[in-house]
Amino acid sequence: MSIQENLEKIEKNLKDNVILLAVSKTKPSEYIKEAYDFGIRDFGENKVQELIDKEYKLPKDIRWHLIGHLQRNKVKYIVGKVYLIHSLDSIRLLEEIEKRYKAENLIANTLIQINIGKEDSKTGIYLEDLQDLIDVCENCKNVKVKGIMSVIPKGNEESCRNYFKKLKGIFDDLSKKKFKNITMDILSMGMTHDYKIAIEEGSNLVRIGQGIFGERNYDVKKK
Ligand SMILES: *Cc1c(COP(=O)(O)O)cnc(C)c1O
Repeated sequence: MSIQENLEKIEKNLKDNVILLAVSKTKPSEYIKEAYDFGIRDFGENKVQELIDKEYKLPKDIRWHLIGHLQRNKVKYIVGKVYLIHSLDSIRLLEEIEKRYKAENLIANTLIQINIGKEDSKTGIYLEDLQDLIDVCENCKNVKVKGIMSVIPKGNEESCRNYFKKLKGIFDDLSKKKFKNITMDILSMGMTHDYKIAIEEGSNLVRIGQGIFGERNYDVKKK
């Protein structure tokens, strides 16, 4: 199936309020251009270097989302180039983003990434540390939190559904509380294999890579 056919199929499954984020990591710019010509404007990358390499050669109306772990020493490279950072997951990272965006007089829009399954292999903040991060966010001038993001543990449909329900619960809970600098606009959850379940459970941004661009082959890239 072509990229265009994949996109047509996926768009049929989306509700009107759901943003489709095309995850283009490891894929060449020609693939991105194909999705762009179909009408997609939101693209996700998980590595800073790859994002900035693609950002400079592709159309300027693309909204770049950083979905991978963000190291503090790389924040300086993305200032002004990223539409939304999905991976805010520590106070130290928050302070670095605040500092770098303040220096350029720009606003960073972010999602707090939650490690809902408490997996060592994944990044994201644990639920019990969330309030401390929120407290610091409330005092920021150049960082805004627009919602939450999570990568859930692998599992069967029931397990996925339960994690998505939990995340929706956290999202709704934070929506009700009024925090400075924090609004709950975006609930970023769901990927190629579970995005339909995620949408049923309230996701309004799905991050789809392989379902659009085909399987990723990391071995080829390493050469
Ligand atoms: C790679 C990636 C995706 C997309 O995964 P697919 O299985 O290819 O849809 C979504 N979110 C994050 C954080 C990713 O790193």
